[in-house]
Amino acid sequence: MFQIVRSGEVSFLQAPKLLEFKFVTHAFCSRRGGVSQGAFASLNMTAGHGDAKERVRKNWRILSRSFDMPERSFFVMNQVHSDEVLVIRENPPGQQSGGIPAGDACVTQLPEVALCIKTADCVPVFLVDVHQRVIGAVHAGWGGTALQITARVVDVMVREFQCRPADIRAAIGPSIGPCCYEVDSRVYLAMRDHHGAEHFFSPAGAPGKWTLDLPLANRYQLLGRGLANDNIELSGFCTVCRPDLFFSHRRDAGKTGRHVNFILLKGKKSQDKILLDITKGL
Ligand SMILES: [Zn+2]
Repeated sequence: MFQIVRSGEVSFLQAPKLLEFKFVTHAFCSRRGGVSQGAFASLNMTAGHGDAKERVRKNWRILSRSFDMPERSFFVMNQVHSDEVLVIRENPPGQQSGGIPAGDACVTQLPEVALCIKTADCVPVFLVDVHQRVIGAVHAGWGGTALQITARVVDVMVREFQCRPADIRAAIGPSIGPCCYEVDSRVYLAMRDHHGAEHFFSPAGAPGKWTLDLPLANRYQLLGRGLANDNIELSGFCTVCRPDLFFSHRRDAGKTGRHVNFILLKGKKSQDKILLDITKGL
């Protein structure tokens, strides 16, 4: 079970299994501590769903201050429920950065780049190669999970950074839980052939309806890529069940905010000096 922690104004969750690695900082932020109102109360990190832009900007400033990290160190993707994995390296001197392409996962070995995943029911997954010191972050809703994005991130870490799955630790953050996630046959058909499907799907009350355990489906993708069972930790929190802590797209019928979840490698290198080079993995 993850622990709830507070830093400055922000309350967040941390995975005990990642805390022993002092070269990494991570936070699965709750909705508490921001300035947004109503359905977006209060630490909403995206302006695309009806919240006032100025409040969202202020929330990013609150996050930055609470963790004593410059705002520019937060790397935010344009999340589109794909299986696109972005690899972030330092731009070679004299070359132009290509901007930020759309993607739903990212991997880096650069210090002081906070990989951000925004969620409101989807599963945030963090990966740490504790030997090579490489980190990954994943946004896995049912679409990304059906495309096996979490497994693909492990593949990218292995191919691009020579990571060994045995060295990778994973934390699967707060998301919609099996207690609250009924899906139809479209979702079932997209994933019924996946490793572990007999465990992460169960029949719901009505015909053609299934209960999906999305965190467990992502756990099976990590197990299928060779991570040790003991090296994968689940939050134990359902975003639908805890309106005091989390936004939930399903519970609030789409009118809700997004939390941010982030992970970074600590380092001395100044973010001012780094120009990011972002390429697509695999
Ligand atoms: Zn629930």
